[in-house]
Amino acid sequence: MPATVRIESGCIHCQACALVCPQVFALPDDSDHAVVRGEAREDGITSDNLGEGSPLLPLAGDVWESVREAAAGCPVEIIRISGGAPEAVQA
Ligand code: SF4
Repeated sequence: MPATVRIESGCIHCQACALVCPQVFALPDDSDHAVVRGEAREDGITSDNLGEGSPLLPLAGDVWESVREAAAGCPVEIIRISGGAPEAVQA
């Protein structure tokens, strides 16, 4: 099952996820809520991924670890990961 990352409501804009894993998370200038980058998703859409539920594209193993680290470090615990690690690619 491909890995999917969603960001639920309640983001406090602390930037921790984007600092830990900038390949997947971002805080757009025009939003007060973190998003999952389109570049990291199968559907290419940048959003909280709640509506789309798009799986991640294959990630290098260290990036996947940083996704998990970002989810664990979110102070309001709104980053949800479902599924296993995306197929690893050469770093
Ligand atoms: S770590 Fe959590 S609260 Fe902080 S910006 Fe990311 S989603 Fe928002």
